[in-house]
Amino acid sequence: MKFWRLPLDAEEQIIPVGRLFIIADRCKGCNFCIEFCPNKVLEASPDFNRKGYHPPVMKPNHECNNCGLCEVICPEFAIYSTVEEKRRFTEVDLVRYEEMSSGEGKGEQE
Ligand code: SF4
Ligand code: SF4
Repeated sequence: MKFWRLPLDAEEQIIPVGRLFIIADRCKGCNFCIEFCPNKVLEASPDFNRKGYHPPVMKPNHECNNCGLCEVICPEFAIYSTVEEKRRFTEVDLVRYEEMSSGEGKGEQE
């Protein structure tokens, strides 16, 4: 998710890590979840489901934050997440934030 500034209390924040469930054969390939995921963690699978569509998959080395938007937006009830763990803000998050702020990775986060 793109912030316009780093929250002052970022290091005190607890970040939920979501476990994503995708019911591939329900997917109709509308791409709403891929387009609107605030963290841009989804992409279309190269594989086809039984209906002939490309269901979403999690991008490698990306993390779902269990925001629930994909579950709400999916017209086929084909995707949802649960909280797998909660973690602290880390140096990795800071580097990611700085990359986004400097324009690197901008296309991915817009
Ligand atoms: S729960 Fe939120 S962060 Fe996770 S995949 Fe769905 S839209 Fe993206
Ligand atoms: S929103 Fe639902 S139907 Fe649309 S691509 Fe995502 S999983 Fe498939």
